[in-house]
Amino acid sequence: MIRERIAAAGGDVDAVTVLAVTKRHAAGAVAAACEAGLVDVGENYGQELAAKADEVAAGHPTVAPRWHFIGGLQRNKVKQIAGVVHTWQSVDRIELARTIASRAPAARIFVQVNAENESGKSGCAVDGVEPLVEGARQLGLDVAGLMTIGPTDTSVDPRPGFEIVRDLADRLELAERSMGMSGDLEKAIAEGSTMIRIGTDLFGPRPS
Ligand SMILES: *Cc1c(COP(=O)(O)O)cnc(C)c1O
Repeated sequence: MIRERIAAAGGDVDAVTVLAVTKRHAAGAVAAACEAGLVDVGENYGQELAAKADEVAAGHPTVAPRWHFIGGLQRNKVKQIAGVVHTWQSVDRIELARTIASRAPAARIFVQVNAENESGKSGCAVDGVEPLVEGARQLGLDVAGLMTIGPTDTSVDPRPGFEIVRDLADRLELAERSMGMSGDLEKAIAEGSTMIRIGTDLFGPRPS
């Protein structure tokens, strides 16, 4: 169903990665996603990721998820997940990049962008993206893309923000553009997303 939505939005289903967002779902959801071919898996909380990675390794030894960290990240939480994270998608400040570089040298990261400078929202301001990308590269990190979350107010059109992120990624020659969730994936695809992060529309509502 997600593949059909990608195609209907004009995306290339073989070129767009579907990141299965498993926050608040059990380890079994991770195994099911991997078995269905969705080996890129997203988590938001350090503690939960660390515990779930252990559970998946113990209970589902045949699957090998690539864990993407997509949540707000405090520097003191980096250590506990440094050994399992495949891509750090929520890097929004140089101090965090520095901590990741010290715990996971040469790690693969995306810079998270607060494209419309919404107050109280995580992500680097647009004019801070280039210096952060350069600074992270100097720390030896593998800066592979940009990530953004659409407007908090879902009645606001997310496309202008997605377009800003795509243009920045083009200019900085970053291949990955992680944008679009269950509610706005079509608009993100139309603006050149290479990775949509889907929770609800894969697994149903999250347990509270
Ligand atoms: C929870 C979350 C998602 C998935 O959201 P859905 O609307 O359930 O698809 C995607 N990206 C981030 C950063 C999230 O926190």
